[in-house]
Amino acid sequence: MRTVYVNGEYLPEDAAKVSIFDRGFLMADGVYEVTSVLDGKLIDFDAHAVRLDRSLRELDMRAPMQRDELLAVHRELVARNDIAEGLVYLQITRGAPGDRDFVFPDPETTAPTVVLFTQNKPGLADSAAARTGMKVISIPDVRWGRRDIKTVQLLYPSMGKMMARKAGADDAWMIEDGFVTEGTSNNAYIVKGNKIVTRALSNDILHGITRAAVLRFAREAQMEVEERNFSIDEAYGADEAFVTSASAFVMPVVQIDDAVLGDGRPGRVAPRLREIYLEESRKAAI
Ligand code: PMP
Repeated sequence: MRTVYVNGEYLPEDAAKVSIFDRGFLMADGVYEVTSVLDGKLIDFDAHAVRLDRSLRELDMRAPMQRDELLAVHRELVARNDIAEGLVYLQITRGAPGDRDFVFPDPETTAPTVVLFTQNKPGLADSAAARTGMKVISIPDVRWGRRDIKTVQLLYPSMGKMMARKAGADDAWMIEDGFVTEGTSNNAYIVKGNKIVTRALSNDILHGITRAAVLRFAREAQMEVEERNFSIDEAYGADEAFVTSASAFVMPVVQIDDAVLGDGRPGRVAPRLREIYLEESRKAAI
């Protein structure tokens, strides 16, 4: 059984409890982070901590812990659960004021709820899906306008994954005004010739931690990167496509709706970026 962390305590998962009045449960009033673990070490922890602070600030929530404490809890859970490859989830909600009310509770009297848990994922890095590539479908992006905040409001992404599954695909790319915003739980990229194209940062997408690292590595490897909107029609005609996230790293996409890209197998750019990303991330892991 897993050991999880709830509000200062390490507990067996079946002993961990959160109030029914928790605003995460009642209103999706909370934020989260997902950090991957390779070789028992955390990938890009600092960048996740920085984004967490930003999410909290944007929602007028207080950071419940200093960064070094947060790191210590992550490490303790990785150790206690013996995670060599996997993920650490961190959830912070505005807490449980003891009744239901739209008005934010006073942070002096209502402490945030802090939950961390691990997922053991042997084979996360050496993934079969990365060798074959994924199929995605396009769906309308009907999410709210602050997708840059990593909230626990994941109903539409969850519905998008179900739409994909029903259509025999692996995931969905979301479309707004004809342009791809992002994947349901990842950032989206196309490759044309030597150019990597991905949507620029704004409130329309999550500012992916993996995105930042991958674009940096791509530029260092002298690849051309264009941060701009691309349409779903442009994506159909791309040579390659891929997605990035903390849990999938760099994952090739070989089909978008009915459009098969290239010869239907991962191309040259995405597998190379995956290799570089994994190598550099392992080196920098803490
Ligand atoms: N976009 C969305 C909507 C996501 O949910 C995620 C993953 N949480 C990402 C992008 C990728 O972000 P990261 O690389 O930080 O995991």
